[in-house]
Amino acid sequence: MLSTKKIALLLRRKPLAAVGFVAFFVTVFLFVFSTGPATTKPRYSYAKKNTGWFAQKNRDSKIVTNMPKEHIAHYDLNALSESVKASGRGEVLILTPMAKFLPEYWQNLNKLTYPHNLISLGFIVPRTAEGDQALKQLEQAVKTAQSKPHKFKKITILRQDTESLGSQLEKDRHALAAQKERRSMMALARNSLLFTTIAPATTWVLWLDADIVETPTSLLEDMIMHDKPVLSCNVYQRYTENGEPAIRPYDFNNWVESEEGLRIASEMADDEIIVEGYSEIATYRALMAHFYNADENPSTLMELDGVGGGAVLVNADVHRDGAMFPSFPFYHLIETEGFAKMAKRLGYEVFGMPHYLVYHHNE
Ligand code: GDP
Ligand code: MN
Repeated sequence: MLSTKKIALLLRRKPLAAVGFVAFFVTVFLFVFSTGPATTKPRYSYAKKNTGWFAQKNRDSKIVTNMPKEHIAHYDLNALSESVKASGRGEVLILTPMAKFLPEYWQNLNKLTYPHNLISLGFIVPRTAEGDQALKQLEQAVKTAQSKPHKFKKITILRQDTESLGSQLEKDRHALAAQKERRSMMALARNSLLFTTIAPATTWVLWLDADIVETPTSLLEDMIMHDKPVLSCNVYQRYTENGEPAIRPYDFNNWVESEEGLRIASEMADDEIIVEGYSEIATYRALMAHFYNADENPSTLMELDGVGGGAVLVNADVHRDGAMFPSFPFYHLIETEGFAKMAKRLGYEVFGMPHYLVYHHNE
């Protein structure tokens, strides 16, 4: 064997060789003395190690997760997105802040042709008298729908724990003075809804307001097809003019930034916000609402800087990366408009479909 002197010499001359030498002995020692089950119990064990952490299959034989053991579920987001790519069908989470339950909204939602077993729904209802009413109607509707075949994968109903504005009359909601507070509360409601419902398998999040009463039944297919990080529909409203049915633009939050908009923002105090669609703040932004042309292809896209919340499809990874609805001025923008800005700051592109209409309820 080596004498202490020799080892010291070896260490000085060939330190690497010495390390290798020691490592060899340690390995041999471990091999000889540690066969059989590990003496210290691993912190966590997995039901079937041989299939790998992430390779267990669910009933639809899609790779989803391993069996949760000791209440730990592992998800390989890569494997999940690979399985979505292979099937071409991802799971959709439709999120709706709901102050009022409109039967037309519910019927429209139920007519969507995308497989309902791949759709989860999430609602957040305000803690107001109007909210109580909405909750009752929604629960009734959900009960009926879920007792039928083609039911939705999962439905979550949240009761808001933050403040709500009392008056929901259109003229009160839309007064510029009320916007900062109102939009900021809406942002909080959207964030609670998002953060409590997004799941590992969620591929797309569709933000659909409770007063969007009419969309093409192929809404999800039509939007998902574009595979964009953020994609917003053009929100119009039906009305009658001289007894004739007509349509008019409703949502002005889908816009392209302008020089003037940037200039106004640059001169604002830190806590001031711009809300689009008010003559008091003339931004001269290009509003998608005005780009609609019935003769154009509905699947035409345009790049946007701000979006509304009427019908917006978001790739779930955009939310997972941290894009949410700022309830505070973010580049002088809040809520859905602030969300678009945040998505862009995270490096994502934001689009709108100027010739693809969905309809807002007419109060
Ligand atoms: P507008 O169309 O821009 O006037 O905005 P809405 O008042 O329609 O609000 C947008 C969405 O949020 C709709 O789906 C409303 O039902 C819902 N909503 C409005 N106020 C509240 C609220 O205080 N709390 C919650 N949870 N949802 C709300
Ligand atoms: Mn609305």
